Order: sequence, then structure tokens, then C-alpha cells
Amino acid sequence: MTTLAPDKLSPEQIARVVAEALGSLASNPASVAYSEVTDGIFDDADSAVAAAKAAQKVFMTTSMKFRRKIVTAIRDFVTKEENLQYMAEQAVIQTGMGNVPDKIMKNRMAAELTPGVEDLTTEAWSGDDGLTTVELSPFGVIAAILPTTNPTETIICNTIGMLVAGNAVVFSPHPRAKELSRWLIRELNRVLAGVGAPANLVCMVREPSIETSNAIMTHPDVAMVVVTGGPGVVHAALKSGKKVIGAGAGNPPVVVDQTADIEQAARDIVAGATFDNNLPCTSEKEVLAVDAITDLLMFEMIKNGAYQIKDPAALKRVEDLILDGNHPKTEWVGKSAVEIARAAGIDVPSNTRLLMAELDLMHPFVQVELMMPVIGVVRCQNVDDAIDKAVFCEHGNRHTAAMHSTDVNALTKMGRLIQTTIFVKNGPSFAGLGMGGEGYATFTIAGPTGEGLTSARSFTRRRRCTLVGGLNVR
Ligand code: NAD
Repeated sequence: MTTLAPDKLSPEQIARVVAEALGSLASNPASVAYSEVTDGIFDDADSAVAAAKAAQKVFMTTSMKFRRKIVTAIRDFVTKEENLQYMAEQAVIQTGMGNVPDKIMKNRMAAELTPGVEDLTTEAWSGDDGLTTVELSPFGVIAAILPTTNPTETIICNTIGMLVAGNAVVFSPHPRAKELSRWLIRELNRVLAGVGAPANLVCMVREPSIETSNAIMTHPDVAMVVVTGGPGVVHAALKSGKKVIGAGAGNPPVVVDQTADIEQAARDIVAGATFDNNLPCTSEKEVLAVDAITDLLMFEMIKNGAYQIKDPAALKRVEDLILDGNHPKTEWVGKSAVEIARAAGIDVPSNTRLLMAELDLMHPFVQVELMMPVIGVVRCQNVDDAIDKAVFCEHGNRHTAAMHSTDVNALTKMGRLIQTTIFVKNGPSFAGLGMGGEGYATFTIAGPTGEGLTSARSFTRRRRCTLVGGLNVR
């Protein structure tokens, strides 16, 4: 598209700009219908789904080259420093969870490490009977339910993956993050319009709620439901009667045995368990340490910013502060260790990153997904005992686990027994998301339904095309 200052345009240039603009509108009917008016924000589920459906119909006719252009435009927009800063700050202000520097890293990761068009590979068979291919095609309109813990990261990651696959998406953000989500959806629509995409490929309902979330999930024109959230909403989605990708809760255990590099293990556990104040579903949430190294591990964790709560009365005050029965109190989810400690009347140094206590296996700080930088350390007799306890603490979520060990047999045993979607060995949990470990990033990790770390190909249908008797050139 030509971009020139209007007061410097010659009549020929004006004619060219107008012709380009008209050409772009003519080739994108959906943009004529909706763009200026809505920018992807609708008053109700029906209008959002209708707009997404119209957009997807046009989008289906565009090229893979065009989808590549879309991804580049989204990555460029998100990674502008002012946008990263704005999203991180607003997420902390609006949700009351997490911290700005880590949210900047998470948004950058979503923009840079979510796979693009290269994720859609074609399978082929050729032989005497001809040529058969299996290609990955879009579902159509996807309903995507978002968590409060990664509000913008999940929009960015899902948008790239779902659009690369040729779908349109109607998001249902968590009500606590609705304003920031509206901003991002609006901006993404403008970015997409800027490269000539149909309007409303990415939509949401202006005032999201559990009711609108259910209305979108069960809408007849929605072909697939992708849920990133806790067990309640995954369960609700599975009842929708649609193809569901369910990315649910975790309670990631980390095992440390006597063969591990304990200094490294301590550094990695503190780094993983404090990342964005422990909000990520992948963050270390309890430590199962072999007795022989438990004291050394805690000593090293303290050197890295952990504070050990030893006084039973202080521990009780933290329990009363952050727990409501066996559930974390929402107002303390994603708060910093210093805020939690001071509110519980514990005078910790200002550089404290993590609160830890040596606890029994059944303590809620071990068994419950707190999403706070508060972690229980359980002393185990040996590595077999630690692995068994880790499997117990993971509750069959099949989400994430970590282990620090140089014993190949022990690592293999844990991998076999824990059956998590992500298993990180000798690194912080976020290495399993592609940050300091190999592999791409995602913010939708589908344990319950088995798609694993979702990417564009997860949002596609496999379609076989058979040509009989030809195009085999061997
Ligand atoms: P949440 O389950 O409270 O809410 C998630 C979304 O579901 C929100 O948009 C909410 O409005 C909606 N919702 C909640 N209950 C619903 C119902 N009964 N019917 C319809 N919609 C409903 O979760 P949260 O507190 O926003 O996020 C934290 C949870 O998400 C944690 O359990 C965390 O482990 C999990 N999570 C998982 C992944 C993953 O990839 N597996 C990623 C991030 C977060």
C-alpha cells in the first residue's frame, strides 16, 4: 500500500492511492461489511460468530504466502517495545497477578516462538496406483476460552496458530482481563486490516462472562472449542458436543535426587517457581527431594532468593492468608513472595523471590495448585520414593513435571511413570516451553485431550486427496 503525506501527493499519486484502496476493499468483502464499525468486538455471541464465519469464508480463499504475511505483521506488532510494555503493565493492573518484566518475556515468547506456516506439513504416498496426499485444512470458526493468568500471551499464541491453519476465532477472555483483551483484539484487527486481511478474523464479545463463554462454545456455527483454563471450564467444554482441545490445570512436581548438580537444581527451581510469580501452569509447584540432599538443596535455594519459613506460627499465618479451605484465595494468586510474606507478618528481605517450607506430603502447599511463589519441600527416603510422591502430587493432570538427576535410569523411570505432557530434565520448567530449551512455544498445553503443546497443526482437519494412476514419476 502506498504511504505518503497527503499534502505532498500529486494528482497521479492520489489516483494511485484511491485505486489501491478500492482494490483492497473489493478483494475483501468481509472488510467492507464490518471493519470500521467493530474491529472484532461484538455485543453478543451470535454477532461475533456470524462475523467470524463471514471472515473465515473469505480467508479460505487466500494463499499460504498471505498467511505468512499475517504472521509477520502480528509478530512485528506484538514485539514493539511500547506494546510489550503496555500489555505487561495492564495485565498486572487489571488482573492483579504476575509481574511486568516476566510478562514482557512471555508476550515476546508468544510472538516469536509460536510456529507459523511451516508447521503445516503435507504427507504423501506415491506408487503404482498414483499419488495420495494428506493436507491440513481449517476447521472454520474456533471458540477459544482464555485464562486470566496469561491473558494476552494466549490471544497472541492462539491467533497465530489458528489463523495460520486458516480458521477464524472468537475469543472468550477472562472477565478480569476484558479491557486489555478488547484493546488487543482491536489492535490485531487493525494490524490484519493493514495487510489486507478480511475484517473480524479475530473476535470477542464486548462483556465476556461465563454465560457468553458457554454461548460461544455451544454455538452451531462453531466447529472447534479450545479451552485454556481450570478443570471447571475444561469439563464444561467437553459437554459442548464439539471437537474440543482442553488445556487444563497442572500441579507440576520437581524431583531432585542425590546425583543432581544441586547448585544448578536450586537455581533452576527458584527461577521456574518465581517466573511471573508462579502463574504459569507449567511452573514448579512442589519439590520432592531425596533426604541425602534436602538440606543442601534448601541452603542453595536460599542463596538464590528463597526464604525458608521455619516457625509453625508463621506458616499458619501464611496458610490462613492465602488459602480458603483447600483452594487458593484469588486475591493472592500471582502476588510476589514479599507481598505475601509481609501480609502474613513475616519480615523477609526485600529481594526475597520465593517462600518455602519443609512440609508433609499432604500439606495443601504441596497438593494444591496455588499459582503463588510459595512452595512446599517434601523430604523423601530415596529417588523411587520421590518419584512415587511426584506422581501422586501431579494428580493425573498429565501436565508438567521436572527432575534434576544425572541417573539415566531414574530419569527414564520418572518419565515413564509421570506421563506428563512436558517433562523437563535438568532445567527450569520454562525450558519446556522453548525458553532456554529446544522447541517451539505455546500457551495452550492440551494434556486432557492429548494434543500436547498446541500449534497450527492442532487446529486443522486432516484431509486425504487421492489421484488414481498418475503423478507417480518414479
Ligand atoms: P478459570 O478456569 O477460572 O477461567 C478460565 C476461563 O474459563 C475464563 O475465561 C472463564 O471466564 C471461563 N470459565 C470458567 N468457568 C467456566 C464455566 N463453568 N463455563 C464456561 N466458562 C468458564 O482459570 P483461570 O484462573 O483464568 O486460569 C488459571 C487456570 O488455568 C489454572 O488452573 C491453570 O493451570 C490453567 N491454565 C492451563 C494452561 C494450559 O495450557 N494447560 C495454560 C494457562 C492456564
